[in-house]
Amino acid sequence: MSVSAEESAVKVCVRVRPLIEREERATAEDSVPAPLYWKADRKSIHQLDDGVTTKSFSYDRVFSSSETTNHLYQDIAKPLVVSAVEGYNGTIFAYGQTSSGKTFTMMGSKLVPGVIPLSMEEVFQTIQNYPQKEFLLGVSYMEIYNETVTDLLVDNWKRKPLEVREALNKNIYVADLTEELVTCLAQALSWVFKGEKNRHYGKTKMNERSSRSHTIFRMILESREKSDPASGDNSEGAIIVSHLNLVDLAGSAQASQTGAEGARFKEGCNINRSLFTLAQVIKKLSDESQRGFTNYRDSKLTRILQNSLGGNAKTVIICTITMAALEETLSTLQFASTAK
Ligand code: ADP
Ligand code: MG
Repeated sequence: MSVSAEESAVKVCVRVRPLIEREERATAEDSVPAPLYWKADRKSIHQLDDGVTTKSFSYDRVFSSSETTNHLYQDIAKPLVVSAVEGYNGTIFAYGQTSSGKTFTMMGSKLVPGVIPLSMEEVFQTIQNYPQKEFLLGVSYMEIYNETVTDLLVDNWKRKPLEVREALNKNIYVADLTEELVTCLAQALSWVFKGEKNRHYGKTKMNERSSRSHTIFRMILESREKSDPASGDNSEGAIIVSHLNLVDLAGSAQASQTGAEGARFKEGCNINRSLFTLAQVIKKLSDESQRGFTNYRDSKLTRILQNSLGGNAKTVIICTITMAALEETLSTLQFASTAK
């Protein structure tokens, strides 16, 4: 498996979220003006000390706090979505500490659609450009919480841990994961909402749990050339299957929270391990000279995405940061630049 030489198969970008009201207020109440710690341009972020750059990080793209989700989508997500329709696997990750804007970016809000709804809209539009092909589209939505995979498209009382297995052809699949066929955008969105509702169900405080779990929303695209009886061709083309994975990762800082004990500590370790394994995998993909063996089996996350990382697949990592949290931002920037 080799990565295309002309264009890197892995793109890493950073999105800076604007300060939210509470942070604005905190800054305003501070009688001493906040020192300027960071400076960003389109491709890099510089850490400053007294106006002097002490460290610089470079990326494929840095989206400033004034750039919209749609802007980001057009720039870095759309090409990957279009290539998924053309038969290539693609994965978009949102990585960052809790409250840095991962879910806002991937799912969006009522007013601002995120990458997931925008991508689905794109898929339904793009398939119109291929009248000679027929498409079969499906969606799945799963959650990985504490190394346990569950199906977000089944009712909560029926949710049970799912196994990750390897098929005879070496493809990795999640056994018994629901795959719902969808024929229009509204239908696809209704499954997203169902999954979201399931994700937020129950007595576990929503934010706590959602910041500690990874979710993978997957669109499965099957296509084949239609037969053309007019030209005497009755053969149907081979079926091409591709996966578009849209991943909202667990909060990156959860892992290292001090004072965690028992179950919390174990959760933290699992998050750490999966994000670390992911970083290893990504690093290898973006730099072929990297030696050594990456064990996709080290975490459920990388195992499930194994077929979609590498080969002809495209990968985009959106690292979300907020200038309000210096330490965590620095660690996200470091993760992002190692992934580069
Ligand atoms: P995370 O999923 O990383 O924990 P959220 O996406 O929930 O973080 O974002 C935290 C808060 O910040 C939410 O209230 C969200 O609406 C807001 N927010 C995040 N990113 C942006 C953005 N780019 N523009 C405006 N508000 C944002
Ligand atoms: Mg979130």
